Amino acid sequence: MTPTSIECPDLEVLFTELEAGEGPALEHAEQCPLCTAIIEEHRLLEKDLCRLADPLPPADLVHKVMARVAAEPTPVRRELWTGLSILGASLMMGLGLLLTSDAALSGLGKSVARTLVGGTAFTEALMSGVHALWNTAAGPLVALVAFVILSSVFGLKRLVRNGPTPSEA
Ligand SMILES: [Zn+2]
Repeated sequence: MTPTSIECPDLEVLFTELEAGEGPALEHAEQCPLCTAIIEEHRLLEKDLCRLADPLPPADLVHKVMARVAAEPTPVRRELWTGLSILGASLMMGLGLLLTSDAALSGLGKSVARTLVGGTAFTEALMSGVHALWNTAAGPLVALVAFVILSSVFGLKRLVRNGPTPSEA
């Protein structure tokens, strides 16, 4: 009769104590190669299950996405560029809105703008139009610009998320 000949505990008890971190069954397992092997197997299996349930983004995710974008699909690349240009246009629009409203508010800015564009009545009309719009609907205007920017940003995010899926990998 050797020390390890004590009967191995029920697996359910062993795993319960494994989760708790202590217990007689666990103490036995430390002395028993059979139970140690079982615990090791269980640990690996659990790790695999965790990986399946909650896949961590691999370290080379960006590389994979970029490779995918470069290698394969013109549509995806075009979508990406469309998203980027929408984002750029939105930013330009917001910036332009800010500049023009400032210009409409200050005579100096207005004259500078008039010089740049050529001093037409069109500039005048545009300025007063923007000014009026800005005065009456600054809130909705800002909201609109913010919405366009946000939606293009979210579009890009969605595009990236629609990249490699587990089933394709
Ligand atoms: Zn054992």
